[in-house]
Amino acid sequence: LAKINGARQVLYFEEEMQEVFSRKYKIENELKLSLKENHFYVAYQPKIHLKGKPIELEALIRWQHPVLGMVSPAEFIPIAEESGLIIEIGKFVIDQVCRDLQQLHKTYPHLRIAINLSPKQFLDTELELSILAVIKKYRLDPKFIEFEITETAIMIDPNKAISILNSLKNNGITIAIDDFGTSFSSFNYLKKLPVDTIKIDRSFINGIGENEKDSSLVEGLIDLAHKMNLMITAEGVETKEQLEFLKEKKCDIVQGFYFSRPEKIENIILTLDQLNVHI
Ligand code: C2E
Ligand code: MG
Ligand code: MG
Ligand code: MG
Repeated sequence: LAKINGARQVLYFEEEMQEVFSRKYKIENELKLSLKENHFYVAYQPKIHLKGKPIELEALIRWQHPVLGMVSPAEFIPIAEESGLIIEIGKFVIDQVCRDLQQLHKTYPHLRIAINLSPKQFLDTELELSILAVIKKYRLDPKFIEFEITETAIMIDPNKAISILNSLKNNGITIAIDDFGTSFSSFNYLKKLPVDTIKIDRSFINGIGENEKDSSLVEGLIDLAHKMNLMITAEGVETKEQLEFLKEKKCDIVQGFYFSRPEKIENIILTLDQLNVHI
């Protein structure tokens, strides 16, 4: 019996692996087609400065597939990254963001937008030239563009990362470290990295008020950032309690469903107006 069960389990396992592989294969193929057929768009989520004026947005890609429906970036970005398609997808995002920003500046002339970069995009030798070309095409100032990169992307080749970051910063683009605290980052590098902001990962914000260790970690990260002259953002703020805690601990920027979900460009002016933050 054990033998039969064992054989069955192997069969289930193989079937499951088959499914994972074929889904991945399908996604990769559909990504290629969707790039040609424009099934992507960019959604925007406000980032709110607790001390007042400036408003920022984070650009988040959306894939509306005609048959598969909405596919989450959490699923398709890693596949795009592995296959190299992320470079082309990233170019679409950068162009769309700069085009949208040019429009949004008519109403919010100081609005800034942050763009997520995956490791391959960040390490792509053409990144800087291509972002600068697009910024120029839409007659923007690079200071209105921020890149969000993860610690993982930096740690692949820290010295190369430092030189890329320096070069981007010399051109006026600002940098945020995304999902901070989720990998074993080296604090030794943090002090050498030319970054402007660190974004505390959502998982820690989630624990505020529920898990004492999360609350302490968040408080500690806010102090650490300030002692290093960095700005600090909390992502994934969902409750009033979390917001009150972050205000009390002097977090600089907050972002999350409590304020707004990522919205289509058509709704973003209204959303910003409703948030009642005026530049
Ligand atoms: P991320 O950059 O850390 O983005 C934050 C994610 O948290 C977004 O998910 C956002 O919709 C979600 N979020 C925001 N506020 C809340 C909240 O209050 N509660 C909860 N539960 N979630 C919240 P999304 O849009 O699904 O993106 C997932 C990840 O995919 C991003 O994480 C980023 O790493 C990647 N990604 C998204 N757009 C792009 C892109 O254009 N290029 C690249 N390379 N990566 C992207
Ligand atoms: Mg991000
Ligand atoms: Mg994040
Ligand atoms: Mg994330």
